[in-house]
Amino acid sequence: MDRRAFLRSAVAAGLSSATVPSLAAQFAALTEVNTSIEAVTGNRTEIEIERAAVEELSASLRGNLLMPGNAAYEKARKVLNSGIDKHPAFVVQPTGATDVRKAVTFARERDMLLAVKCGGHSYAGKSTCNGGMQLDLSTLRHARVDTARRIAHVAGGSLLGELDRESMAVGLVTTAGTVSHTGVGGLTTAGGFGRVGRRFGLALDNLRSVDVVTADGQLRHASADENPDLFWAVRGGGGNFGVVTNFEFQLHPMQRTVVGGDILFPVSMLREVYEIWREYGAVASNDLYCDVYTGSLMEGADAIVGFHVCWSGPENKAEKVLAPLRSLGEPILDSVKAWDYVDLQRSADNTEPRNDASYMKAGFINDVPDSLIDAIENGIEPRDRRAIFLYCQHSGGIIGQVGATDTAFAHRKSLANMFLIVQWPNEDEAAGHINYIKNYWRSLEHATDGYYTVDTSTESREVRHANYQVNFPRLMELKKRYDPTNLFRLNANINPAAG
Ligand SMILES: Cc1cc2nc3c(=O)[nH]c(=O)nc-3n(C[C@H](O)[C@H](O)[C@H](O)COP(=O)(O)OP(=O)(O)OC[C@H]3O[C@@H](n4cnc5c(N)ncnc54)[C@H](O)[C@@H]3O)c2cc1C
Repeated sequence: MDRRAFLRSAVAAGLSSATVPSLAAQFAALTEVNTSIEAVTGNRTEIEIERAAVEELSASLRGNLLMPGNAAYEKARKVLNSGIDKHPAFVVQPTGATDVRKAVTFARERDMLLAVKCGGHSYAGKSTCNGGMQLDLSTLRHARVDTARRIAHVAGGSLLGELDRESMAVGLVTTAGTVSHTGVGGLTTAGGFGRVGRRFGLALDNLRSVDVVTADGQLRHASADENPDLFWAVRGGGGNFGVVTNFEFQLHPMQRTVVGGDILFPVSMLREVYEIWREYGAVASNDLYCDVYTGSLMEGADAIVGFHVCWSGPENKAEKVLAPLRSLGEPILDSVKAWDYVDLQRSADNTEPRNDASYMKAGFINDVPDSLIDAIENGIEPRDRRAIFLYCQHSGGIIGQVGATDTAFAHRKSLANMFLIVQWPNEDEAAGHINYIKNYWRSLEHATDGYYTVDTSTESREVRHANYQVNFPRLMELKKRYDPTNLFRLNANINPAAG
């Protein structure tokens, strides 16, 4: 058995044996619990919560309530970025909207800090917290396709792989991100770029409706006809407006086979690669998705530069469409081939994702000025025990044909979302790697225009406006209506008390 298979089976064995003990047994295992437990408010003021109230909440749920000290709690509190290590006061794992309503009401009545976790992919670790309640939606995973109506009903805690798999099984698709263990919840409420995004729009552009539990504990259906303001806000407002328990997506017919893969060159060709991409990417067919990236691996290998493509048009046209990228000369690697779409969507999955800590900076670019290419070239410094990844995820096409105010997602004219990630082994000191990326980013930032809300970790006034741009005033108004006490604050926050 190889190492990955061994780890997988060990984890699976651990999980299946980790049936959740009763709450009384969980309390009994804790040494410091008396009649109350320590927690924090949204403003991080320390509070005490009556043990009896927690027991009452637990008894009212169909799902689990997890206290610190058991395996299920440990698994729930962790997120993909292993540099984040937070300990909620307790975790609620709902099995349906009723459990979500009870948990939200409990947190609001006590002004308790609340984190909402779906796939756990938030780089900044917004889906876990210290001392608050974590609502872990991993128990709310399900995708059902209505083939006749070309609609997918997707539960709020689902992962993208579930949506892709069920839809493609009947020859249908909608835009999902490029890694299948990313959460539908975080990705769709913020935007949702992916390999067919230029052809079908962002994930959120394909939403027909949502069921959302708002801060008052009500379950609301929101669509173009019902609660249209809330529907508008959820499509780009991130987790600010409540917990989505069900997404209804429009699906589109698509063949299973697409042409995809990577074309890589030595970093000495960085300038030519970015120059061709800025021309090619701006006018590409909507059926073509073409990212450009550069970086180096942790083993200290030489940096590379190249493209990741997905052509979902007719297979026999792929060669002609990709010819300009191949005209650059002999690549180090050309892995482009016919793929089953669902397999391509899983091709970048990481089966051991929690081994490395990471940090990210990001912003949208509308163009690639020479000054940006200069800065990209000057900033790459490969090192042992440090992976660098500068990625431009292709936007445009149908995404750019939607108006900036049609949904709460304003960044319609961008060419790409540019993000810069550094990864390092968990046991290493973080500060040096983070400082390196901050300095590198400073040299790139002049070419950016606003942020993708999933990527922002600071919440200054400038950042808030850059996140939401022209939609910020309306979002602020709706936040005051739907979440006046800012219960949902662990996100790219629209703070109703701030400007
Ligand atoms: C490996 C990787 C690949 C990625 N690829 C892409 C990509 O191809 N395209 C793209 O657009 N983005 C991509 N992203 C960014 C990704 O969309 C965001 O990190 C997103 O927040 C992840 O969602 P999640 O549910 O996994 O995150 P979580 O950490 O679980 O949640 C993040 C936030 O989302 C909100 N949220 C989650 N679920 C719900 C819900 N049901 N209702 C309301 N709010 C909710 C909460 O505010 C929460 O704090 C990627 C990220 C990673 C780490």
